Amino acid sequence: MSWPASVDLLAPLAPWFDRVRRDLPWRATDLDAPHPDPYAVLVSELMLQQTQVATVVPYFTRWLDEFPDPRTLAEADDDSVHKVWEGLGYYRRARFLKAAAGYVAAEGWPGDLEGLAGLPGLGPYTAAAVGAIAFQWPTPALDGNAFRVLARLLVIEGDPRARAMDLRTWLAPALESHGPSRMTQALMELGATVCIPSPTCGVCPLSNRCGAYLESRIGDIPPVVKRTRPKASQLWLVSFEAEGHVLLQTPTARGLLAGLWCWPTFDAATHHPQPTAPGPHSITGWPGWIQVYTHRREAVSPLHIHLKSRFIPADGLRWAPRENLVDLPLGRRDQRLRDLLGTPGQTPLEAPDPVTLIRSLSER
Ligand code: SF4
Repeated sequence: MSWPASVDLLAPLAPWFDRVRRDLPWRATDLDAPHPDPYAVLVSELMLQQTQVATVVPYFTRWLDEFPDPRTLAEADDDSVHKVWEGLGYYRRARFLKAAAGYVAAEGWPGDLEGLAGLPGLGPYTAAAVGAIAFQWPTPALDGNAFRVLARLLVIEGDPRARAMDLRTWLAPALESHGPSRMTQALMELGATVCIPSPTCGVCPLSNRCGAYLESRIGDIPPVVKRTRPKASQLWLVSFEAEGHVLLQTPTARGLLAGLWCWPTFDAATHHPQPTAPGPHSITGWPGWIQVYTHRREAVSPLHIHLKSRFIPADGLRWAPRENLVDLPLGRRDQRLRDLLGTPGQTPLEAPDPVTLIRSLSER
């Protein structure tokens, strides 16, 4: 490892960060002292996983209003926890946060990085970030942004993640010298605002020492990773309503939508539309949309089917009073149909047969 010393190479980052740092609700004023509220740091780090700062800010504020400390969160029921998280995505994070809060409320904060990394939902990156920002430990936190910045600075060929151990060892003295919280957040800020995939090197405090910039290799460092093509599907997303109740799938413990209430869905490849005819039910439709997940793309066709009376729901389904809909945590796709229910739709010319849909629910 023949990299220049991190203490010197990264020195301009600290004054740059003091100058440009954004005023964020989880950021302490004094970056040289341990954070006055480690729980706020933990919440912000979990929320910031896979999510932009601007999206997180209102969620963070609301979360701290509802669950101001680990004990309040640990004692909250799952539906209210998911409800406050509703719309932020990756709901596992909410459950991890609640479980981690339970541990902290019972045992206190762990005293070292290994203990933090043992909390639910804290991988090596989040544990190191909380260690540095909340407790001023010199624990280098390397996420995708940090790897990109360091790969460019040090002209690392290939995937910089393969050098994670070396990079942590290299980075630690800079944290000790310039302050763990300040340097960690400075690196995050640079990776989020300046050294982005198409970087603005002209305003970068490190441009006069950045290997990739000086060698004109920004385009190929780090190498672009090819993403696998998301799986595509087409589905009917259906709100059955009868006698003032709507039919919902109860939350599951596992999977992408664990902890959330969902509308029943039907594969459009097997439930073909047919001309709608007058009957004991009424059908309303709205324009569909494409719902994008990390590994999946769904072409969603939303329908509301109003029935004369309720049927006995199969396992995993429940009739919920319609007025309770607003209190139940739903994922983004399902929120969208909930919101459509309050808007005028149209009777579609074609739709799947409601009787067949109801029958298929009991066969699952
Ligand atoms: S000079 Fe450009 S590539 Fe290098 S660290 Fe700064 S923004 Fe990133």
